[in-house]
Amino acid sequence: MASQEIETLAAALAKLPGLGPRSARRAVLWLVKRRETALPALLDALATVGEALVECDTCGNVDTRNPCAICADPRRDQKSLCVVEDVADLWALDRAKLFTGKYHVLGGRLSALDGVRPEDLNIAKLLSRVEEGGVDEVVLAMNATLEGQTTAHYLAERLEAYPVRITQLAHGLPVGGELDYLDEGTLAQALRARRPVG
Ligand SMILES: [Zn+2]
Repeated sequence: MASQEIETLAAALAKLPGLGPRSARRAVLWLVKRRETALPALLDALATVGEALVECDTCGNVDTRNPCAICADPRRDQKSLCVVEDVADLWALDRAKLFTGKYHVLGGRLSALDGVRPEDLNIAKLLSRVEEGGVDEVVLAMNATLEGQTTAHYLAERLEAYPVRITQLAHGLPVGGELDYLDEGTLAQALRARRPVG
């Protein structure tokens, strides 16, 4: 039976996505064995992130500055806007380095099951960005899940009122595929072969 402190840390780690109680305990043991090497670096990184990270008011990205580095980058194409469900999807797409426009993070997906309604997502801000003008194309880069596609369909309807081209990622995406788990080549291919909605 481990001490209360170790149990507390393991319980906290077990809440991280992708880590269950078993992996959390293994991570704790790994850290204990490296408390003079890996642990200080991890503590530093956690403290920095805790202090410095902010949400970008424009796109919803998470960065150490607001507006974020992508929104503030003048070399990025203002005319093209890529809509994603979560920040992790934005990061995955940006790692693929094929999309040169800007992003918009919804903060989730429509879900009758989980009670997520349009007003729970960052949709009003998306419409106001499009309404401000200067956007020619909106790429709907939702996950290839039922909820992702429902969300894309809903957004396409809402965006119909604006003079923009609406495209979505090509269906080279595996059904049920979440962007964050795809390799960069597959993502780049889906983006390159994007097609008009409808
Ligand atoms: Zn931003």
